[in-house]
Amino acid sequence: MTDTDAETSLVKIARVETIPIRQELDHPFGNGQGWTTSRQYLIVRIVADDGTTGYGECWGPIAGNDGVVERVLAPMLVGQDPLDTGRLWEQMQFKLRWAYHSFSPYSALSGVDIALWDLKGKLLGRPISQLLGGSFRSVVPAYATGHYFRKVERLEEQIDVVLKEARGNLDKGFTQLKLKIGLGLLGWGPEADITLMRALREDIGDVPLMVDANCAYTVPAALKVGRAAEELGIGWFEEPIPPTDLDGYAELTAKLDVPVAGGESWALVSQFYDVFRRRAVTLAQPDVCSAGGITEVKRIADLAHAVNVRCIPHVWGTPIAIAASLHVLSTLPGDDVLLEFDQSDNPIREHLLTEPFRLDEQGRVGVPDAPGLGIEIDEQQLERFRVGG
Ligand code: CA
Repeated sequence: MTDTDAETSLVKIARVETIPIRQELDHPFGNGQGWTTSRQYLIVRIVADDGTTGYGECWGPIAGNDGVVERVLAPMLVGQDPLDTGRLWEQMQFKLRWAYHSFSPYSALSGVDIALWDLKGKLLGRPISQLLGGSFRSVVPAYATGHYFRKVERLEEQIDVVLKEARGNLDKGFTQLKLKIGLGLLGWGPEADITLMRALREDIGDVPLMVDANCAYTVPAALKVGRAAEELGIGWFEEPIPPTDLDGYAELTAKLDVPVAGGESWALVSQFYDVFRRRAVTLAQPDVCSAGGITEVKRIADLAHAVNVRCIPHVWGTPIAIAASLHVLSTLPGDDVLLEFDQSDNPIREHLLTEPFRLDEQGRVGVPDAPGLGIEIDEQQLERFRVGG
């Protein structure tokens, strides 16, 4: 063993810190579930005793994630070897399931796991993609998430908002778009969603277009909208119904030709195994910040590959979530990888890095190749967005 090896093996986790960040939005926007009025995240920073730091991000509200990370997971981690990401994941998952039963907070586990991978990559001097088995690609095609609802009186106004935003996204270089449907939030039924889909399709021609209902429908309503989506050549039909109705997902997948997508509300490979076994979706969308971190989303993606299901992770977070997702995406075999690149209002996404993620001329995003997540957090901006817990 060389001196360098000996030093690396002696590095231990010194501290696990939580950084709650939040930004109120000037213009709230809606989807099939409700209105978004702020963006908030719990950032996890893990510091090794040699001073190396790793960053992670938890999905969801700050409340809950902060206490779990600080009081349940941090005491387990201090003094541990940060290179042991797999062992630590198993021990944390066991602890949460045992302690919390039905409401195990896997978003907290996910944020810690991402921070551990960032730290491990920096300690070893390797990008996470290589530690996961190696990258197939240096860039990943992206699609634009956006086209949300505004508080308007008439459907025509909503259509105008969406068409303008879609043209703006195409001007930015996007080659694929995703539309929000589920206008029941504004008091309109599925027919309004079909009208909105049709208007956008007619406006953008044959640009690849997906739709996301954010669980707005019953199965019969989803069948009706899904059949219209097929006629309009929609790429996939995301979260047509609530995630608890797996039989409904299986029925829609069997009856519709348009691919049925879902997964942002599911966690752990065990749950995705149940989804795949029941043929409930043809496209799986686990989120690295809630499904169990990089460790577990890589396993979910590998299982999806093994059973011939597409895996396109859900991403709606800060650049930490984007970077973690890009590392996983870069390691997936096949040609149909795709990054969800949210374009909705999010000052944190735009300002948290010294160099924000940007589209290239072909509508793709580069996979970071520096050690760990390969990103540089702007510490001043992090402090600017920090709020009380
Ligand atoms: Ca979604």
